[in-house]
Amino acid sequence: MKLCGKGHDNWSTWTSTSGKVKKYCKTCRQLRAKTYSERKKNARGSHTDKEFQEKLKKYDRCPKCDRKWEDIPSSKGSARYKITEDHIIPLMRGGSDDIDNIRPLCYQCNFKKGHSVRE
Ligand SMILES: [Zn+2]
Ligand SMILES: [Zn+2]
Repeated sequence: MKLCGKGHDNWSTWTSTSGKVKKYCKTCRQLRAKTYSERKKNARGSHTDKEFQEKLKKYDRCPKCDRKWEDIPSSKGSARYKITEDHIIPLMRGGSDDIDNIRPLCYQCNFKKGHSVRE
């Protein structure tokens, strides 16, 4: 039995969409999943969809363009929702994913903001 790159002997297989059976190291996969979720929890915080819905109740309009949610036209493009989650301090600048750093923003403002950030 061949060991994986990290020296584990804990192979499992999965079948790809093309029908090929592929091998992966279960230990490595578990380790990766663990560090990913820990990193996400420690460095960036997190919030649930429910917390966001609670926060949304305090807003009847977009805080940036001051239009009521119902007055915002539906997107013709790729945006699926009128109301999007906005990071007050962008993740790129060290903001967290905690609910305190999240506010609802209409997709149009969020889109514009995303483009203006790249000075
Ligand atoms: Zn491994
Ligand atoms: Zn807006």
